[in-house]
Amino acid sequence: MPLIVQKFGGTSVADSQKILAAARKAVRAHQEGNQVVMVVSAMGHNTDLLVELAAQITDQPPAREMDMLLSTGEQVSVALMAMAIHSLGYEAISLTGAQIGIKTDSTHTKARIQSISTQRMRIALDEGKIVIAAGFQGIDEDFNITTLGRGGSDTTAVALAAVLEADACEIYTDVDGVYTTDPRLLPEARHIGGVSYDEMLELASLGAGVMHNRSIEFAKKFSVPIHVRTSFSDVPGTMITPLPEAPDQPVGGAALAKDEARVTILGVPDKPGTSLAIFSKVAAKAISVDMIVQNVGADGIADISFTVLKDDLRTTLKAAELAAQELGAEGVGHDDDVAKVSVVGLGMAKQTGVARRMFRALADAGVNILMITTSEIKISVLVDRSQAVAALRAVHQGFDLDKRPSGARAPERISGKPARVSDAVAVVSRLQKMEELTIDDISLDDTQARLTISGVADQPGIAAAVFDAVADGGIFVDMIVQSFGRQGKAKLSFTVPQAQYKQCLDLLNGLVDRLHCGPISGSPKVAKLSVSGIGLRSHTEVAIRTFRCLSEAGINVDMISTSEVRVNISVDGQHGQKALDCLQRAFADARQ
Ligand code: ADP
Ligand code: ASP
Ligand code: MG
Repeated sequence: MPLIVQKFGGTSVADSQKILAAARKAVRAHQEGNQVVMVVSAMGHNTDLLVELAAQITDQPPAREMDMLLSTGEQVSVALMAMAIHSLGYEAISLTGAQIGIKTDSTHTKARIQSISTQRMRIALDEGKIVIAAGFQGIDEDFNITTLGRGGSDTTAVALAAVLEADACEIYTDVDGVYTTDPRLLPEARHIGGVSYDEMLELASLGAGVMHNRSIEFAKKFSVPIHVRTSFSDVPGTMITPLPEAPDQPVGGAALAKDEARVTILGVPDKPGTSLAIFSKVAAKAISVDMIVQNVGADGIADISFTVLKDDLRTTLKAAELAAQELGAEGVGHDDDVAKVSVVGLGMAKQTGVARRMFRALADAGVNILMITTSEIKISVLVDRSQAVAALRAVHQGFDLDKRPSGARAPERISGKPARVSDAVAVVSRLQKMEELTIDDISLDDTQARLTISGVADQPGIAAAVFDAVADGGIFVDMIVQSFGRQGKAKLSFTVPQAQYKQCLDLLNGLVDRLHCGPISGSPKVAKLSVSGIGLRSHTEVAIRTFRCLSEAGINVDMISTSEVRVNISVDGQHGQKALDCLQRAFADARQ
């Protein structure tokens, strides 16, 4: 008998009428001959209300008690949903995360799923019952209740679809699918028929709140196709599968992370081990960092900046101050009035001129860029929060995201079970540690060179002018990093093919006077190391392992870029092979 997982988010169960409507959808699927597992979130904004309630008692609630509190929201919904199904004349059983056997680690408020038992759900389904699972929660080995992080019911749904080898996984929400950006922010956002796992993973982790990013990690790892759709009608939504909407489109979507903060460790010696000292302290608090950039001065003293969620700022600052003391740094600075705007697209890696289009759009809208980082499939910029929506609108327009791309595939209904792994032992071992780190590949690219423009002033238009000129010169740009600079003196670095190094150097030298920046420096040979896998940014230990192994090998990190599917590091060209060897050893246990 086919099995379907249907997840209903908070707005879809916000009141009794909506609960009954959701129950009717599940009953209909049941009548159509499916076994049905529902995953349900807390009603409406109940989780927010519980968070506020805790904040009225204390500003530092113990994480364990927070989980105890937050898990109650879902417990209310599952009970009411089971009653609703009963009232419609069908049998149902509500189950908490613990009752299902969703085992997690003990990282309260951000727990990762380790394993899920299917036995109890299977028995109930075989008895003809609709199973109603509480989203967002699990239990650790000491029977403490844990939660998976805000928005985590999506992850419960996809994880259940994976272990039950469901035929379909439907995410019912208050929008009729995934849009090119949040339609609440930009009404001109366009509905997308289909989006690839890699793009969705990146978009979700960069601020597209429609899906919990870790749910997409599961979907990709276990090949679960996801259908995101509205709970208020039957119109088809968006399929999340391995395929992008249009393979040649450079950018498929844009995202805004509105509540970000920048942290800068000021004046640290630029030598192996510095990054490790800083980021291991932050990672120990289970905080994900993004946009790691360093600004190395001529004197070998660096400022290292990175971004975190504004909510994590306080804890991050404590960790950063500890690291600063240990390193003998000048101090720690921060700015909690910033936002991150990103564009994401699988086609970006193969095309020139994508950076130019992004920076030109921002410059024309008068947006000042505070920091830049890129990866193969995304470009992120940090801007003042006051310019966030203007920046998002500019890039959305700049990439014509409101228009259907040529070559877009029809928004077909792709259904199909998660891919079967024929070897039963392999399946069990993969599922046992569901959210463990998986690394697919570690590679070395020693064909690139780096150019750096110092003295980049704090004003709009510089990156646009640079990448206009570079694109006009037919130069292919790979990694781009713009550091945060004190007194408005940032550095803009990027890599190009070694064969184009000289041409690019000449071109930049001809440009700096006009832009009132400089001098230009560079390295004709850099080595770029890439670690690729799934969910790398949220697995905070990936960056740490990378930094540790390079530090132990005495190799200094030059540029860093991270995405959900890759961590790229550039180092001095002569250290490429040594760095590759040490990374391969460091990740031997996580290789697929
Ligand atoms: P639920 O409670 O159903 O989980 P969420 O509020 O978590 O719902 O997610 C749905 C919301 O996500 C939408 O209302 C929309 O404002 C927001 N959103 C952000 N980015 C996107 C996007 N790219 N496409 C669609 N919706 C988005
Ligand atoms: N109720 C939880 C939250 O609001 C989980 C979820 O809705 O996905 O974050
Ligand atoms: Mg959600």
